[in-house]
Amino acid sequence: MNTNALVVGAGPVGLAMAVELARYGISIRIVEKTAQRTDKSKALVLWSRTLELMDRMGATGPFLSEGLKVTAANIVAGTKQIGRITLDGVATPYPYALMIPQSETEHLLEEHLAAYGVKVERNIELIGLAATTDGVLSTLRHSDGHEESFDSGWLIGCDGAHSTVRHELGMEFVGKTMPSNWILGDVHLSGVLNPQEITVAWHSSGVLAIFPITPNRYRVIADTGDTHGVAPPDPTLEQIQEVLDQRGPGNIMASAPVWLSGFHINERKVATYRSGRVFLAGDAAHIHSPAGGQGMNTGIQDACNLAWKLALVCLGICAPEPLLSSFSIERSEIGEQVLKGAGRLTAIATMQGNIKQSIRNHMASLIFGLSPVLKTLANAMTEVSIGYPKSPLNGKGTSPNSGPAEGERAPIMNQSPVGSGDSPRFALFAEGGDARGPQLIERYPNLLEATLRQPFQEGGIWLVRPDGYVALATERGRWDDVANYLDRIKLS
Ligand SMILES: Cc1cc2nc3c(=O)[nH]c(=O)nc-3n(C[C@H](O)[C@H](O)[C@H](O)COP(=O)(O)OP(=O)(O)OC[C@H]3O[C@@H](n4cnc5c(N)ncnc54)[C@H](O)[C@@H]3O)c2cc1C
Repeated sequence: MNTNALVVGAGPVGLAMAVELARYGISIRIVEKTAQRTDKSKALVLWSRTLELMDRMGATGPFLSEGLKVTAANIVAGTKQIGRITLDGVATPYPYALMIPQSETEHLLEEHLAAYGVKVERNIELIGLAATTDGVLSTLRHSDGHEESFDSGWLIGCDGAHSTVRHELGMEFVGKTMPSNWILGDVHLSGVLNPQEITVAWHSSGVLAIFPITPNRYRVIADTGDTHGVAPPDPTLEQIQEVLDQRGPGNIMASAPVWLSGFHINERKVATYRSGRVFLAGDAAHIHSPAGGQGMNTGIQDACNLAWKLALVCLGICAPEPLLSSFSIERSEIGEQVLKGAGRLTAIATMQGNIKQSIRNHMASLIFGLSPVLKTLANAMTEVSIGYPKSPLNGKGTSPNSGPAEGERAPIMNQSPVGSGDSPRFALFAEGGDARGPQLIERYPNLLEATLRQPFQEGGIWLVRPDGYVALATERGRWDDVANYLDRIKLS
């Protein structure tokens, strides 16, 4: 068996997965059943945390050149502003939502992957798999109909909502199709009041959201009520204009549609993201309302969570457990939170009934007036507050008095991000001047970065994982805690 991992599906999640594994030197194949990349804009937003994680891949630069930086979201009811969330105060190198069509995201990721010498193999569909304790035997169908048996150490199903991998594993996609229907238009707009900002309009007949994509081009989304299980037809430009006139702040004109689509919302998730040597990531594992724009971001972050763990195992540096089982535990919890959060946002935005709506608007005006609430919302939107406080990978340090706790995202200092480069190493943030730090680095050369980094606060040692989350936080001088942690995960 020459290939360590087979990635199924070249959507944004499969591509991110392939980039991460390839840059860590893992031998992979990535197969995709369609002949061409999507030309649809679908997911528009890359949030700060995703940009931080992509920075580790060396991929963020081209995205910043192509995307549109949006720093505020407004919630309005008619001409009244109910709330305004600003992102420019979030503690990240990327304090904004980067608007970029999913087609472009896939294009840039595929180009980045090619730089590692890996090409997406198109017109190849995974149609079956058999996993054993030693590897996975996949059946791949080529466009001329011939079937190939392919052996890999691991398989990652990034094959979207209708995942064949998930079906082959017999995993249930638990959840429901929501009763409301939605229309979407990617159109040119004129007359938008805050053209570089997101606008969400709450109206008695439903919700309208307007997202800038490029100058003058916008995504318009609106709910159209319950059509009792009948799939919504694609809207016309006139319908998009009607909903803008009815629910928007007024005087917005739509023209030149690029994409018009009607869609249902599904809220579904698998119970576990792993079965032995097979993993699920992205829409294959969780789908939910686009409210909050977190579907693709969550999927890319699934990939970043799994890749370094799988790489350390494939490279023979770490034992499979507890690293690999932590993937599902950590990411399934996040999937659950995203599903609930997006569902809650959708329910609030589509609330029916005049009395309920006026109470909602009043309460929301009060809540959005509180700055701690706004800060929490901005951190949640940009996903910098995602963490793994209950992870089995967290150490058992005697937490220092201040600084990030185990499972939290480590603050990004003015340095190269942890986990960048060509090997998945942990970083030690600790004061110099104690010979035991460099001695530890010498003892675990494959697991630790070659030099100490400045601690987040005085008096502590922080061991940070290759995906930038704190593995261990302990007091100054407790180097044994670090050694014990590394002994627990390394291959003995
Ligand atoms: C209209 C719309 C609007 C959306 N808006 C947003 C948004 O604003 N924000 C957001 O975050 N998300 C949004 N999403 C969701 C977002 O598009 C998905 O979360 C994202 O595409 C998931 O990426 P993925 O790689 O997991 O799956 P996909 O993008 O579905 O990619 C899966 C890939 O696997 C391939 N494949 C499937 N089966 C096989 C097989 N057996 N063999 C080989 N290849 C296979 C498919 O062809 C596909 O290319 C939206 C989606 C839609 C449809």
